[in-house]
Amino acid sequence: MAYVIIITMTNTAVSQDLLEACHQDGCPVCRLEHAADLRYIDRLFYERVNEYELRVHLRASLGFCHNHSRMANEEIHAKALGVAIIYDDLLRVVLEQTGKSRPSLSIDKKCPVCENQSQVTARIFLDLTKHINSEELQAALRSSRGLCFSHLRHALGVMRDTNARNLLLQIQREIITALRAELAEYIRKNDYRFIGEEIGPERDAWIRALKMGGG
Ligand SMILES: [Zn+2]
Ligand SMILES: [Zn+2]
Repeated sequence: MAYVIIITMTNTAVSQDLLEACHQDGCPVCRLEHAADLRYIDRLFYERVNEYELRVHLRASLGFCHNHSRMANEEIHAKALGVAIIYDDLLRVVLEQTGKSRPSLSIDKKCPVCENQSQVTARIFLDLTKHINSEELQAALRSSRGLCFSHLRHALGVMRDTNARNLLLQIQREIITALRAELAEYIRKNDYRFIGEEIGPERDAWIRALKMGGG
């Protein structure tokens, strides 16, 4: 979904969630999206199973996408009864659609968790754009693992404020340059001529690079 961030200058502080996400492992935007997904799925199964609008949405999206079905099962251990009720209804819809003379299985809406995630992501980039001049946020971003490729691409697409985009880009490029230096050190120490040298903090640089690439 394409959307453009329009900045309205307010005195609101940088979100604590964003600052905290910068101090954890991995891309801070991925981290915040993941936490929001878990909260959304948890609430859905505990409070919203019989909500009419949600059930209509789930029929149109044929349930959850692969990623969020897995999350509901493995990370939330979603309430079994809620899953049974929702999926019994969806299986009925599938039987209905595939039992017609011209069988079809159309998906007319995005998975509701993905839809919620798009709104969450938009708010995160709005927050980043609004507060990028804050020294606190800049320091937090510099100490973070940096944005994954996917969210960096997203940032370049939606952050139309040149100053904000350039600042984020500058910080991201510093993180990538430092990671490359660690990778170079890791590769060098794997050369048989330097095999006796102890491997330092660069030991997991390849994992961090992989995570940055894959989000
Ligand atoms: Zn990410
Ligand atoms: Zn989804």
